[in-house]
Amino acid sequence: MTIQYQLANGAIVKPAKDCNCVTHEGPHWLHMDRLDADSERAEYDLIEAELARVEADGGFKCLQHKSNINHRMVHLAKRAMRRLQEKKRIMQSLQIVRIIT
Ligand SMILES: [Zn+2]
Repeated sequence: MTIQYQLANGAIVKPAKDCNCVTHEGPHWLHMDRLDADSERAEYDLIEAELARVEADGGFKCLQHKSNINHRMVHLAKRAMRRLQEKKRIMQSLQIVRIIT
């Protein structure tokens, strides 16, 4: 997988490798962002499945269960927001307008 950045000036550049990892190509921050995004997606799927089970079970009869699901969803949203803010910060600092893979 080739990773390229489109910069604010329109140039397309291939980012330099900035770590010694052998497990991924491209810059380390982008790799970590993707791992975190995958993990968020997996957590979201778990919460959705849990929600479907509870609803199939007659809805939110158990307030504690409902509260737990809501808490996990809010936690996940905050986590995703922090990740995206950091991604935006890095992209702006490097003048990246688009990541091409
Ligand atoms: Zn790395």
